[in-house]
Amino acid sequence: MKTFRKADQFQNYLRQFVQKKSIGFVPTMGDMHAGHLSLIHRSKRENDVTVVSVFVNPAQFDRKEDYAKYHRSLKTDLAKMKKEKVDLVLAPSAYELYPENFQTWVNVENLSKPLCGAFRPGHFRGVTTIVLKLLNLVQPHRVYMGMKDFQQYKLIERMVQDLNLPIQVVPCPIVREGDGLAMSSRNRRLSIKERTRAAQIFRALQSVGDLIKSQNKVARSQIFNHFKKNLALAPADKLEYFEIVHPDTLLSAKNNRLPLLIATAVWIGKTRLIDNMLLH
Ligand code: AMP
Repeated sequence: MKTFRKADQFQNYLRQFVQKKSIGFVPTMGDMHAGHLSLIHRSKRENDVTVVSVFVNPAQFDRKEDYAKYHRSLKTDLAKMKKEKVDLVLAPSAYELYPENFQTWVNVENLSKPLCGAFRPGHFRGVTTIVLKLLNLVQPHRVYMGMKDFQQYKLIERMVQDLNLPIQVVPCPIVREGDGLAMSSRNRRLSIKERTRAAQIFRALQSVGDLIKSQNKVARSQIFNHFKKNLALAPADKLEYFEIVHPDTLLSAKNNRLPLLIATAVWIGKTRLIDNMLLH
């Protein structure tokens, strides 16, 4: 496995290394868990060469303290990736990708507005910009995106189509802990009590899924109450949003005809968690 901190050195090496080989790319912010590794496994299966980027992207943090506090563990990440036989790692500094006077941004207009976009100003502009930069650097045949961040996956899919990038966007299923909590680098911030409450998010999503499937005509208000009851938040927690949307437009679904995406963001104490469930 080879690791690069400089973008130009990475590209020079890549060009010689990958002649006529298919490249799979997994963009990450590091602090790797089984969710990240599932993307890497899939890329390894489907490509000759797998490239992983580890970059905590300052441009996608709407709160400075969140960026500062984001857990960085490059050494451990490199060891995990070496074990998975990742071929190349790109782990640049923030300055390397955002030098002074950086001023070009990519914005996927409509898909970035609802759900998380309504609560995190500038977040998705930061995401699409960094992913486009990384796609330009790596020039992969396939890019692997987790459905845990469903809106992010849809934005990247749209951007790739809109900008005619010759890349296949591959959505990968959500990897969960034994009790259903979606794996996330943020889970480590939860106290033991918070961790127990966090597991309710998935259970509440599941119970809403069951409700919709069993009673097709069930009203939105009833679904919402059902979700809140099953979520059983403590006073320190907060439901940021709970939405039932069409998975392609991410706009509110008027009826319960499938496919539907049930998506939520919940603050468990000071930690913001997102999760979703796709109903086919
Ligand atoms: P992150 O490092 O959090 O930016 O995530 C990097 C990639 O891993 C993104 O495509 C995420 O959607 C994906 N990912 C993160 N957590 C999970 C999970 N629990 N299951 C599947 N994919 C995930």
